[in-house]
Amino acid sequence: MKKTILTGIRPTGNLHLGHYFGACQNWLKLQNDYNFFLEIADVQALTDNFDNPEKVRKNVKELTIDILSTGINPKNVHLFIQSKIPEIAELTVFYSNLVTMARLYRNPTVKTEIAQKKAIFGNEGESVTYGFVGYPVSQAADITTFQGELIPVGEDQLPLIEQCREIVRKFNRIYGETLKEPEALLSPTPRIKGLDGNEKMGKSLGNAIYLADSEETITKKVMNAKTDTKKIKKDDPANPDVCMVYYYHKLVKNENIETVCKECKGGNRGCVQCKKELIQKLNEFLVPIREKRAYYLEHPEEVKRILDEGTIAAKEKAQETMKTVRNSMNINYEEL
Ligand code: SF4
Repeated sequence: MKKTILTGIRPTGNLHLGHYFGACQNWLKLQNDYNFFLEIADVQALTDNFDNPEKVRKNVKELTIDILSTGINPKNVHLFIQSKIPEIAELTVFYSNLVTMARLYRNPTVKTEIAQKKAIFGNEGESVTYGFVGYPVSQAADITTFQGELIPVGEDQLPLIEQCREIVRKFNRIYGETLKEPEALLSPTPRIKGLDGNEKMGKSLGNAIYLADSEETITKKVMNAKTDTKKIKKDDPANPDVCMVYYYHKLVKNENIETVCKECKGGNRGCVQCKKELIQKLNEFLVPIREKRAYYLEHPEEVKRILDEGTIAAKEKAQETMKTVRNSMNINYEEL
């Protein structure tokens, strides 16, 4: 029996290289060996975008196409939309009785995100919603609705998995052994830095390269990437370890990486030449992704069919779990 993997991604924008190297690349390795559910988390996306559902809706299709363009095989991966599986919402309600508000506020991921909201929105950050504070609970429901056993995550999401495990243990203690306790499967790639050197790559930071970017856009972005600021003239020696161009050369596995490093350190390489080489490598890297992307953009009926089939498989598993959950909780009213 293959183990079950559940992972999800919020449809709030296109995939960028941070997503690709931080998550998708790992999914591609795992997709053949597991029973793999990949959730387009539209309900979770609404916690931050409840006043802009159009944005979420538009991005569901965009994101699905991006995911498929990375090489995810819909024959191996059940790709589905979260809101099409109402059993997740039902389980979220049951779980909400098993978690205290104090515990939710102590969750380091929630704490960090509340602090970030306050930093960005000032006093508006005070009006943190119930849905936002409660999202670890709905995430626990996402995982356990599909009896997810392994959950691919970044290090910053480990507290969410721990919270899920606590909920599962409490549920099983109260209602009897019903749910599987998931384990985190830590991403082998740490967080990918932005072109500006920021530790995080993101749309709001304007430092990301998207899988959907054209050659022209990539040229513009790379030409503005942060290099070693101490290098003024073409033949100044520089430190590649503080340069984002070098960082991306390594990321796309430039086979000439040792030469790049040596020439940079020796003052035998100009930044413009180095950036042009990176642009070429990035475009080579993106060729197969662009080809698949173009195919799915031309075949929206196939994208719809993939999501429909993924949803049928997800629904089947969710109904099976909920039947067991309701039996355990003694709320099965098929007979009175
Ligand atoms: Fe960066 Fe290349 Fe310039 Fe060195 S030569 S600082 S690696 S862009």
